[in-house]
Amino acid sequence: MPKKFQKPSGMHDVFGSQYEYFEKIREVVVRNAKIYGFKGIETPIIEDTEVFTRGVGQHTDIVEKEMYTFKTKGGESVSLRPEGTAPIVRAYIEHGLYTKPQPVKLFYFAPFFRYERPQAGRYRQFWQFGFEAIGKGNSIVDAQIITVTYNILKELGIEGVIVEINNMGDEKCREDYKKALKKYLKKETASLCSDCKKRMTKNPLRVLDCKKCIKIKAGAPQIVDYICKSCRDDFRLVLEFLGELGIPYDLNPFLVRGLDYYSGTVCEFFVPRKGEENLLAIGGGGRYDGLSALLGDEQRPATGVAVGVERTASLMRENGVINEKERPQVFIAQLGDLAKKKALKIFEELKKEGVLVAESFGQDSLKGQMNRANTLGAQITLIIGKEEAVEDRLILRDMDSGEQEKIRTNEIVKEVKKRIKKKK
Ligand code: AMP
Repeated sequence: MPKKFQKPSGMHDVFGSQYEYFEKIREVVVRNAKIYGFKGIETPIIEDTEVFTRGVGQHTDIVEKEMYTFKTKGGESVSLRPEGTAPIVRAYIEHGLYTKPQPVKLFYFAPFFRYERPQAGRYRQFWQFGFEAIGKGNSIVDAQIITVTYNILKELGIEGVIVEINNMGDEKCREDYKKALKKYLKKETASLCSDCKKRMTKNPLRVLDCKKCIKIKAGAPQIVDYICKSCRDDFRLVLEFLGELGIPYDLNPFLVRGLDYYSGTVCEFFVPRKGEENLLAIGGGGRYDGLSALLGDEQRPATGVAVGVERTASLMRENGVINEKERPQVFIAQLGDLAKKKALKIFEELKKEGVLVAESFGQDSLKGQMNRANTLGAQITLIIGKEEAVEDRLILRDMDSGEQEKIRTNEIVKEVKKRIKKKK
């Protein structure tokens, strides 16, 4: 028996109705990006590994555990991109986009790779759409990025989106906070999980992200008490803008996000799920003013958000956003070689006129084809039997009333369009 192949573990094929959801999401993202002045960008799927070790951070889960890293034949270390922001900032620096009017506003819709434990809603190749504004950072830009994301989710029919928001302070105030947090965690070492015992010294903020150490987090010092006046004023403005724009948000004093490059405003998008207690995280982001400096340029204020496409698509499916059984307006059934030829021609003519037309030309039995027309819920079926093919006519069957009549082939497009209009 020849070997049968399967997709790589933790990855998935996008096809059928999921493909339709992806298309719909992309269409809404592209349209909103244009409205808000974001231009598209596609970066390579692989990057120099250092773009991520330096940008995302050596001691993050993504870099420590989840990157697909390999050596090229030329001996360079490259990695499949685990996220979109660091490559886009690399491109911004490489192409001197800082000479353009700032901020440079970019968006993407692309696949990413993380070697995570496969589980429901978590893949090793997944898609994200995202927005980045690089080169000028202020509270309005933060609020605009959150707003465009919120509006897209709403337009996609996702109900009850809540934005959790926090301010992580700049490098200076975060250092003060890290010291206080380390001191607190030291006292609680015995109760920390084994991962957090390691994180405590290398990257204490990550303890706040840990699902196993939730109780310890509850008593931890809060970053808002450590941020400087300028960070606090900036945060207050972001909240005021969101309030003004009617974006529902919750303050989460422990939201820190897992990557090193974040500073200032950080946010995460959550959605309630039918029958489930926990909210589902579908996206997140924030300010990353220090990232360009980590990638060898000077410090350039920036902000961004990324949203998971698979999770968005599954929420759309739960909410029945796309009618998966969209009815074809016309189904064409045929019997015999001459009829097939005529059917093909009419199919093309109807399509050209924008009619939603379906067929099952691979099937020879008329009964099988009529069953298919019923299953698809076609409004009209055109039947070309052997007799009709010779007569140069076809039978038009109204699938709702069951009425049939013979029409001349050269009048069929006009007749179909007239009837579809009536049905609307
Ligand atoms: P992150 O870049 O980790 O903040 O992720 C942003 C969003 O991308 C998440 O809220 C998810 O919707 C999605 N996402 C992240 N990792 C995965 C994954 N392994 N599989 C599917 N979706 C993911």
